[in-house]
Amino acid sequence: MKALVKTRPGPGLELKEAPEPVCGQNDVLIKTHLTAICGTDLHIYNWDRWSQKTIKPPLIIGHEFVGRVAQVGGEVAGIKVGDRVSGEGHITCGHCRNCRAGKRHLCRNTIGLGVDRPGAFAEYLVLPAGNVFRIPASIDDQVAAILDPFGNAAHTALSFDLVGEDVLITGAGPIGVMAAALARHVGARFVVVTDVNDYRLGLAARMGATRTVNIKRESLPDIQKELGMKEGFDVGLEMSGSAEAFNQMLENMNNGGKIAFLGIPEGELTINPHLLIFKGLTIKGIYGREMFETWYKMASVLQSGLDISPVITHHFALEDFLKGFEVMASGNSGKVILSWE
Ligand code: NAD
Ligand code: ZN
Repeated sequence: MKALVKTRPGPGLELKEAPEPVCGQNDVLIKTHLTAICGTDLHIYNWDRWSQKTIKPPLIIGHEFVGRVAQVGGEVAGIKVGDRVSGEGHITCGHCRNCRAGKRHLCRNTIGLGVDRPGAFAEYLVLPAGNVFRIPASIDDQVAAILDPFGNAAHTALSFDLVGEDVLITGAGPIGVMAAALARHVGARFVVVTDVNDYRLGLAARMGATRTVNIKRESLPDIQKELGMKEGFDVGLEMSGSAEAFNQMLENMNNGGKIAFLGIPEGELTINPHLLIFKGLTIKGIYGREMFETWYKMASVLQSGLDISPVITHHFALEDFLKGFEVMASGNSGKVILSWE
């Protein structure tokens, strides 16, 4: 089969022939239709410090996908050949305390598809049956291919009650703009989105942000005044990985505000603890998606009319994967889709 493989340490990625993965007794073999490029894939492509520590080449990368079931293992029930599926790329151990308590997103032994085991950028991939998510007929393939990052957005945005609240989202990357759309959908009052990239702020506006803010030119206290906000933001969703953005968030929260923290800063993060303490803020770290509560919520909000498709800005045939990585690296993109059929 064809696959996108990190063949050796160093920048780059190769399209090459690889053996088809073997479907175990509890596994499902999936024929890939569409995949999407994640920031993680770009890190691996660039061979940054994190990748150098984490990735053991040769490895088929990728974890955002939709496809059809081509084979099911002998022990698998409830999934059949031909089902249209995506799946959870965090494979959990099943025996740690959190797994046994049904909190698989907090597993201590998580293994990542396309990071620690062969991934989805291939004509076929194998997943444990318990990680497979069947796609409702009303969700099209394009959107089904980005349920993984939409799940990051949903897990973060739905961590706190947003109804009638004023929400600050720092970072208008694909995940930030999908979170903005979802926050509006579930009834937030103002959804203010910051970034330093005007292309991405344009995307946030199209997806429903009340006000977009290029933080190089405008300040959040001014925007609060413009909107008639008197006390600060009720909920903050950190989706930039920028220390500066996180500190701006702390400064602009109301007392008792709640922050869900998804963005991954490069190094260490210095904050003013007085803001945290005297404002009585709650900060929740977010990793991945809740299995499978987030997936059901995603399916339901999509079925109840939320449209996240504007976040998909580019499509490429597999052979043009380099163009896909280039446009991702430029920052002037939302989600980039690669077609395998
Ligand atoms: P992205 O890198 O595409 O988007 C981040 C955005 O933040 C960019 O548009 C960038 O211009 C913007 N930004 C940079 N500096 C800023 C500043 N000072 N103020 C406001 N915005 C600023 O990433 P993404 O794919 O949308 O993911 C968002 C973040 O979440 C990333 O940090 C990513 O690493 C992280 N992430 C975490 C998880 C998890 O499970 N915790 C999963 C996926 C992604
Ligand atoms: Zn576990």
